[in-house]
Amino acid sequence: MYKINEVKVKTTLQKSKISEYCINPYLGCLNGCLYCYASFIMQRWHHKDEIWGSFVDIRINSVENLKKEIKKKDKIDVYISSMTDAYQIVEEKYKLTREILKTLSKEENALFDKKFIITIQTKGEVVLRDLDVLKNLKDITVGFTITMLDEDKRKIFEKGASETYKRLKALEILNRNKIKTYAFFGPILPGISDDYEKIYKIVKSIYETGTKEILFDKLSYFKYMKRIKDISYKLNLYNDFLKSEDKNYLNELKSKILVVMDEFNNINYKILF
Ligand code: SF4
Repeated sequence: MYKINEVKVKTTLQKSKISEYCINPYLGCLNGCLYCYASFIMQRWHHKDEIWGSFVDIRINSVENLKKEIKKKDKIDVYISSMTDAYQIVEEKYKLTREILKTLSKEENALFDKKFIITIQTKGEVVLRDLDVLKNLKDITVGFTITMLDEDKRKIFEKGASETYKRLKALEILNRNKIKTYAFFGPILPGISDDYEKIYKIVKSIYETGTKEILFDKLSYFKYMKRIKDISYKLNLYNDFLKSEDKNYLNELKSKILVVMDEFNNINYKILF
């Protein structure tokens, strides 16, 4: 059972290290990923005793705030979202992300020289519902996180998120509609998605969607230990997961990525570790 609360927040545009601003229309995330860094950061202050993935706060005044906050700005760089998934399942009902994008689009179109640089990263196919709005934005990029093709394991690690094949399909549809896209292949999970063959298959699946950019990232194991540690024991992968901060392991992983990417030389990519 999920716990859904409607809350009000003071501001919608939050200063950020990822880009100039972030927008998090929700606090908490029903995708409930076991490796989630946001849970580690957010649960120091909020919902301390609850299980990440079992609650979400709906920031119901996000759009109202945003309308005031962007009035004075001609150009902003916004990342949606750093601490939640703006297209998690509750977005179907609340449409906060849709209204946020519509607000940015209306503001841009009302004033000729206004431009917002928007990046959305998600695991939710619900983003396709908003194709009409996305097409109206001047500079929009949509990224999908892809971590593995094995659906049984995907359900364990990212239980509330869209299935991987649906994310790949969504990327394909976005590309067909000329929306800029990228894939975030991360975290690469030791023993699950880190061997040459798996990396190759995932990259190939992304390539087949028409996506031209991939970001690779490793697992940050020690930071989020408890949940990821428990699951690594259960899956008999404890020793594999432990390696994810080891220099030699990471160098080997980078080499495998380089070998794979040699075969896809028309994709831009970046290894973030
Ligand atoms: S989608 Fe992102 S914010 Fe949501 S649980 Fe997964 S890692 Fe955390």
